[in-house]
Amino acid sequence: MIEARGLTKHYGQKAAVDNVNFTIKPGQVTGFLGPNGAGKSTSMRLMVGLDRPSSGTVTVNGQRYSEMSAPLAEVGVLLDAKGVHPGRSARSHLRALAATHRIPERRVNEVIELTGLGAVANKRVGGFSLGMGQRLGIATALLGDPKVIILDEPVNGLDPDGVLWVRQLLRHFASEGRTVLLSSHLMSEMAQTADHVIVLGRGRVVADDPISELIAGGETKVRVRSPQAAQLASYVMSGTGNIQLQPLEGGDGEGFTATGIEVQRIGEIAATNGIVLHELTPIATSLEDAYLSLTRSEVEYAAG
Ligand code: ADP
Repeated sequence: MIEARGLTKHYGQKAAVDNVNFTIKPGQVTGFLGPNGAGKSTSMRLMVGLDRPSSGTVTVNGQRYSEMSAPLAEVGVLLDAKGVHPGRSARSHLRALAATHRIPERRVNEVIELTGLGAVANKRVGGFSLGMGQRLGIATALLGDPKVIILDEPVNGLDPDGVLWVRQLLRHFASEGRTVLLSSHLMSEMAQTADHVIVLGRGRVVADDPISELIAGGETKVRVRSPQAAQLASYVMSGTGNIQLQPLEGGDGEGFTATGIEVQRIGEIAATNGIVLHELTPIATSLEDAYLSLTRSEVEYAAG
């Protein structure tokens, strides 16, 4: 469990995190989502004592990081900082860390296996690919077998297999009852990994919801192209509910996007009336859209 109460961090005049409240529960994967500069990393640094709040508190399992007697056993962290000496091997890095935190040597081998680093564990970290570096970061976070795992953009730089592996690993940890928090600026990534999402924008919480609710909150759109678009449009509009049509932009009058009506229903209407379809595409109940509309006004430096 991670709890923030009135958490605030100022850098000079600027509030990077602005009076934020949330509770991150065990047994599920929670995503920290938001555009660059939203305050995700700052919040995570505050959780693990790498920065001090200007006001408010954040605790992990009821304790501030500075009060923990065995922090690596409480909370594992992957922040983007590359703190590993490039001349060291992955194994010696993990061994040194284990030794200073009284973690048994066999745990080093376990995390090397768990993160698929076996083949490169004795090589210099300086020669690691981004993906291998990321795996070592995750191995480091897991070393103390922590109950709480905090990962800042963990899939950055991973190949598709690596991305899948991280997702499965995090889901597995949540199923064991651990608290898992990861950040991403990509809604698509969250949709596939997280059960619950906290959306940040300009240092504030703009949404704190189960992912299923965010999806349900988005509207379904259907893109339709037909040589008889006008005719089809009039049939569609004669249906019940709040149906809205929008002509396709830059189109030749041969299509529209529809909201408030299911894709199947449009197909049925077309079939019943003998209308030719050139396209009938559901535009995914876009989580991306829901996210963009939540954060549109919150992006620090909007283009243009
Ligand atoms: P995110 O992780 O969501 O991209 P950050 O937490 O890194 O966002 O940054 C939030 C805001 O705080 C940004 O405006 C960033 O420029 C600012 N910021 C972060 N760290 C510092 C720092 N050490 N000094 C000054 N400003 C900072």
